[in-house]
Amino acid sequence: MVDGGMIALEGIELGFDIGGRTIIHDVTCRLRRGGILALVGPNGSGKSTLMRVLTRLEAPTRGRLVVNGQAAAAFTAREMGRLVAFLPQDMQAPPALSVRDLVACGRYPHRAAWRRESEADRRAVAEAIQAADLASLSERPVGGLSGGERQRALIAMALAQDTGILMLDEPTTYLDLRFQLQILDLVRRLNQEWGLTVCWVLHDLNQAAAYSDEVLVMANGRSVATGPPDEVLTQDLIRDIFDVETVRLSHPLSGRAITVPAQFPGRSSELRETS
Ligand code: ADP
Ligand code: MG
Repeated sequence: MVDGGMIALEGIELGFDIGGRTIIHDVTCRLRRGGILALVGPNGSGKSTLMRVLTRLEAPTRGRLVVNGQAAAAFTAREMGRLVAFLPQDMQAPPALSVRDLVACGRYPHRAAWRRESEADRRAVAEAIQAADLASLSERPVGGLSGGERQRALIAMALAQDTGILMLDEPTTYLDLRFQLQILDLVRRLNQEWGLTVCWVLHDLNQAAAYSDEVLVMANGRSVATGPPDEVLTQDLIRDIFDVETVRLSHPLSGRAITVPAQFPGRSSELRETS
């Protein structure tokens, strides 16, 4: 059990030197301790960039990142690595590495370069492998795994880092439906059983709504809405942000609101017919 952390952005602005373009405009948000926050929004809206600010890989031009009540700018890289684990979009793992050795890489903020694995390292790696249900695959090379297994191995590496906060950029992209649900369930279970605080980028709005406590909607580098998924992800918002007409239904088993496109082959959306 880890003590989930909290993380907050205050008035963040980020511009890149190249082109002088501002990518993130005045974003303020808070990831509640023990909560699950989904970042959603169109391609290019700034979700990955915002996540890199949240993990301190990108220094904001203006504003402040706060982790567990302290300004993150003051932390060393190693301290930051003990607080926040991050799996970037399209993360590649060296194919020849065994699953166990990949997971052990997560221990880097806890280990001095010249030291051998400690008992705590071994325990954290074993727990992470167990949690991600990888025991039978632990000696296999990462390059020989299926997409879903590889994603679980990467999540196990992040778990071995033993942080309170887990950040995942599109962890379900490229996975088939069964493996998408497996990853969503795994992360939700870690949130509930280990107390991990989670922030993830998800494209499927129904999955984001079902598996997260809160959503933050990004558009054009701005945070345009934030709050409980069912309150935020309305038909009006989806039309404004994604330019797609939707219908809201009730899931016949869970009773949750689900959103499906109003258009189908032979019927383009009203929005498109009138524009
Ligand atoms: P998303 O993850 O929502 O698809 P990104 O955060 O990857 O969006 O990108 C947001 C915008 O920032 C894009 O227009 C992208 O081209 C731009 N961008 C991202 N990284 C850089 C960079 N290092 N230099 C300049 N522009 C960048
Ligand atoms: Mg992205």
